[in-house]
Amino acid sequence: MTGKVMVRGEHVARETLAKLLFTHGVRFKTDVTGQISLLVHGDLSGQGVTDMTFELSKKLLNVLNQDSHGHHVCVISSAGLTALMDGGEARCFHEHLVELARRSRQAT
Ligand SMILES: [Zn+2]
Repeated sequence: MTGKVMVRGEHVARETLAKLLFTHGVRFKTDVTGQISLLVHGDLSGQGVTDMTFELSKKLLNVLNQDSHGHHVCVISSAGLTALMDGGEARCFHEHLVELARRSRQAT
């Protein structure tokens, strides 16, 4: 997880969230490695992310690094996490982030 992660619109402390997710069968890790399959980005807001310019955090950069190794790490928003916990679906922002990173590299 990175940024301010919310569940059902409320900010939840990392520790609480880790325990909560564990009851959903999720194993929580604090670093992005080859074992990670999902990153929750608390600062991504729903669908409006296209116009958003945010700094690529260290965790996001690690996600992109994994991508260059052919390992797809799904990146979802807080809303996506809530949806998953309710048995629904979440949008994956992975490709969007790869595109953002490519554009920011071109700009410098
Ligand atoms: Zn994905």
